[in-house]
Amino acid sequence: MTGVQHQKWWGWGVEGIAFTHEDKPRLAPFVMEKIGIDLDAPGTPPPAFEDLKVPASQLGDELGGKLRDAVGEQYVDTTDLNRVVHTYGKGLVDLVRVRAGDLPRVPDVVVYPADEDQVRQVVDAVVAADGVLIPFGGGSNISGSLTPQPAEQRVVVSLDLGRLSRVLEVDEAAGLARIQAGALGPDLEEQLNARGWTMGHQPDSFKHSTLGGWVATRSSGMQSDKYGDIADITRGMRVVLPGKVIVLRPLPSTSSGPSVREMILGSEGRLGVITELWVNVHRVPENREIIAYLYPTWAAAIAAMHEISESDAAPTVTRVSDANETAFSLSMQKPSKGLAAKAGPILFSVLERRGWDLSAACLSYIGYEGSESHLKYEKGLVGKIVKKHGGIKLGKGPGSLYDQKKFDTPYIRDFLLDIGALGDVSETAAPWSKLMNLYANTIRAANVAYAELGLKGFVMCHLSHSYHSGACLYFTFAFPPSTDVPAEQIEQYWVVKKAIQQSFIDNDATISHHHGVGTDHAHWLEDDISPAGTDVMAGLLKSVDPGRNLNPGTLL
Ligand code: FAD
Repeated sequence: MTGVQHQKWWGWGVEGIAFTHEDKPRLAPFVMEKIGIDLDAPGTPPPAFEDLKVPASQLGDELGGKLRDAVGEQYVDTTDLNRVVHTYGKGLVDLVRVRAGDLPRVPDVVVYPADEDQVRQVVDAVVAADGVLIPFGGGSNISGSLTPQPAEQRVVVSLDLGRLSRVLEVDEAAGLARIQAGALGPDLEEQLNARGWTMGHQPDSFKHSTLGGWVATRSSGMQSDKYGDIADITRGMRVVLPGKVIVLRPLPSTSSGPSVREMILGSEGRLGVITELWVNVHRVPENREIIAYLYPTWAAAIAAMHEISESDAAPTVTRVSDANETAFSLSMQKPSKGLAAKAGPILFSVLERRGWDLSAACLSYIGYEGSESHLKYEKGLVGKIVKKHGGIKLGKGPGSLYDQKKFDTPYIRDFLLDIGALGDVSETAAPWSKLMNLYANTIRAANVAYAELGLKGFVMCHLSHSYHSGACLYFTFAFPPSTDVPAEQIEQYWVVKKAIQQSFIDNDATISHHHGVGTDHAHWLEDDISPAGTDVMAGLLKSVDPGRNLNPGTLL
């Protein structure tokens, strides 16, 4: 036993937590109307692990011996279950494949180093043996960035950072913390909170993703408006390369040439193994509130979000859903009791009397942190902007519900797969001046793709993460494939996913705001950063890893 906890081999999160719709009476009719799927029909659960055919490990005695010498016998694992857990991330294609037992290439061994010296020994041993080394954090990526290449002939070693999970030091005077790269979100926040500090990085995958994984994929969390994306939060780092270690001290800023720190950010295991990071930390705030607002239209909502981003209010969270996502969120609510049960219908009838078309309404969450007087000031500023754009305040109740439930929502994808629907996401960022066209054209592109397939599909969107010059748009799509054959389901999935990704490029947006490139988005990388840009990147990768031993196939 290694003491490292993993997610389920077939889906999101841990055993014992699952999505259920029985307590959400409006969800089944909503799903039936939108994609024609009956939530009460008997589903097909994932197969038993014993029914999978897992290829045998090809770890030879010589490399096996070196790995055992480096990390100890107990931390070199060749069991089938563990190798399969380390084969895929948690993208839709990953989940369909693993449930179908599609395992063309599985890591031959999983190793669990305890410190940087052991990481160094493993990296050097694997490169000397001309093997492949794939760093593994929480395995939560959704870009296909840690799966071995199907035709890989060399031995494949998955290097799991799970034992490197400690906060090593807090520099209170600087507001910096030194943290090991394998720390999961809850691990590091518990250790920081105990000392009165927080990093403030909260991706929806917080419970099952690691600091090293966030940096390697350029992650962004829901509170990025205040705390920044991981690229802003990360100040210093140590990275093990074949035969050497990059050491970057935590500096507030520097002009020492092209940024090596930025080269490691988003490197997806291609430039070595990140072992520890210096990150910005902040005092745990005195108060924290998320308030819900409602806008009459998407155009009004986007204009308000833009104005909030330019105002003196500096909220932690700025998020607004389009009408489709708003309708989905409302369908996910449990029935309320007492006064609350009456408040909703009364409010909606008042809004209708004021001329609102409720089917176009857009739900927004804005987060605030700080002293009571600071919150009062910011809420006042935001309140005026909301009003100016025809919106209304719904209050704290729905906001805190969203805050509590956000980490459970990901379980819905496995539930949908059980009942035969495919659901996934694509996210991007673009300047404010391009957002409305990007939105309209991407929704259209998804619907054209559904029409081409002859399928009844659904697409919804929210804006999150506002910046000076633009924002992130996050699209979620779901449809019932017309076939039970996993490979054909994946083909249909790609028709929709490609239409959405191509729309990003065609509408001056990036291929991904925070999920990275992986193998899934690599097709559009040249369009995103130009052919000369990919040349520079290829040169960088080649200079560090001429033998393509470090996670080859992902990124470029
Ligand atoms: P892994 O999946 O283990 O690895 C990802 C990549 O990083 C691989 O290429 C791997 O080789 C490399 N890597 C990992 N650790 C290291 C290391 N120490 N050194 C070098 N390379 C390393 N992302 C967001 O940004 N925001 C969100 O809100 C968000 N929500 C999500 C919700 C769900 C339901 C899911 C499934 C995913 C979500 N993601 C989100 C995507 C995912 O959680 C992120 O990409 C995350 O940063 C991956 O971290 P990880 O530790 O799981 O990395």
